Amino acid sequence: MKKRIAILGSTGSIGTQTLEVIAQNPTHFEVEVLTANNNIELLIEQAKRFQPNVVVITNNCHYEILKEALQGEPIKIYAGKEALEQVVQMDTIDVVVTAMVGYSGLIPTCNAIRAGKHIALANKETMVVAGEIINQLAIEHKVNIYPVDSEHSAIFQCLVGEFNNEVEKIYLTASGGPFRGYTPEQLAIVTKADALKHPNWNMGAKITIDSASMMNKGFEVIEAKWLFGLKAEQIDVVVHPQSIVGSIVQFRDGSMKAQMGLPDMKLPIQYALSFPQRLTSEFKRFNFLDYPKLTFEQANTKNFRNLALAFEALNQGGNMPCILNAANEMVVQAFLSDRISFLQMPEIIEIVMGKATYIKNPNLDDYIQTDREIRILTSAMVKNRAIQKI
Ligand code: NDP
Ligand code: MG
Repeated sequence: MKKRIAILGSTGSIGTQTLEVIAQNPTHFEVEVLTANNNIELLIEQAKRFQPNVVVITNNCHYEILKEALQGEPIKIYAGKEALEQVVQMDTIDVVVTAMVGYSGLIPTCNAIRAGKHIALANKETMVVAGEIINQLAIEHKVNIYPVDSEHSAIFQCLVGEFNNEVEKIYLTASGGPFRGYTPEQLAIVTKADALKHPNWNMGAKITIDSASMMNKGFEVIEAKWLFGLKAEQIDVVVHPQSIVGSIVQFRDGSMKAQMGLPDMKLPIQYALSFPQRLTSEFKRFNFLDYPKLTFEQANTKNFRNLALAFEALNQGGNMPCILNAANEMVVQAFLSDRISFLQMPEIIEIVMGKATYIKNPNLDDYIQTDREIRILTSAMVKNRAIQKI
């Protein structure tokens, strides 16, 4: 039986690579749902090629054009955020790939789990915002969450076959991004264009900025806590500029297992879809002679404050990671539109974390409310800082 896949965010970096994996494995997978936010040209092209049952465009303005372009195709077309939240519950879906960016992933993921769909989770922000709720829902509805994030896929692969063997620690590797080794003086003047040049990965704009600022690694620490049931002190970050070692698990006897390979998101995507099987692939193979030196260094939380702030949010728990995420989404947007500088991003996030209303045991409504409030608070702060910048 082919697995029927819904891809939320099919026009993005993860979405398009998921479609490549599906195209290469037509006997294993088929596309059931495709969704995008604005990019209708690509969505139309994908729909014609992969013939899903349903497509959703979340931005309503594009509905008419999409409908017209797909006239005559046996494809149902829906528009709006609510459509996305509902479509994940369709009987004909086996797995939902959450490849949309940011907080927008939360409600569709909750709904998909409630409808009993397994999740291939790329949208790490969902776990950052509400990891505890997602885990509870997954247990309640007997749903598996397969990590797509490469570091978490690496950990997951190291854990296969270990049954109840206790994990002492995990090491998430970080490339260090384009500004590895930069001084605060250098970081103060980096531009958006500099930050968008990632040395090893080609990703969407938001995660590329998060990688440059190390917030991405901070989010991954929080994501790992929930995916693997770890305490903050069991999670460490090590900078590994070559991105060959995916990540490492250290067991209670001191043995360490690492997953390795060339950086290519198609591998973790394929594994998340095919688990427990490994499918044959044509992905480029690693050659030891191309990499005579694999290096490791300590992450610099002094210059890259976001990583320290993420650990702080993790330790505080409650709605603090949700606060961290909402503030980060707003400052990244502001940085991408040249309203604030690179170092103003962590500065604003830290102030917002100090000012926000803390909730110790939040429910889903509290998270929704927190996200809304923090966006308002952060955008006011951004306005102030933007004026200072001028
Ligand atoms: P992209 O920006 O490339 O793609 C995002 C996708 O989500 C697009 O299809 C976009 O549609 C859609 N989208 C954007 N905003 C919304 C919204 N408000 N509602 C619904 N859909 C929306 O992002 P990436 O593919 O790089 O990242 C996706 C997720 O995967 C992120 O959470 C990221 O952290 C995670 N991830 C990504 C990795 C990577 O290598 N790229 C690696 C590990 C994790 P449109 O094109 O129409 O705007
Ligand atoms: Mg990652």
